[in-house]
Amino acid sequence: MIGDQLRVPIMWCEMGSCISWHADPAALGEADTRARAIEAGWRVDALGRLACPRCQQTDPGFWASRPVVPWDRYTAIARTAHATAWGAAAMPAA
Ligand SMILES: [Zn+2]
Repeated sequence: MIGDQLRVPIMWCEMGSCISWHADPAALGEADTRARAIEAGWRVDALGRLACPRCQQTDPGFWASRPVVPWDRYTAIARTAHATAWGAAAMPAA
């Protein structure tokens, strides 16, 4: 498919000048990529910014006021699609 690789969404770390990013070629779309980033250890802070694992540790701007990732509709849809498409096979090894 023409341009197929170009459609792989990338989630950028939104903390300050950080240039970390997360991409998953198997993601179904932008929301799914975000969900996969969160599964990989990324977190959304109290201001709704996506932060890479390193910024969660080092960036004083990361507002970790909510220990649990906000379960908004956007994320829920992505997670549902993810679970439907991949099922138990996609569960990360503990
Ligand atoms: Zn970062």
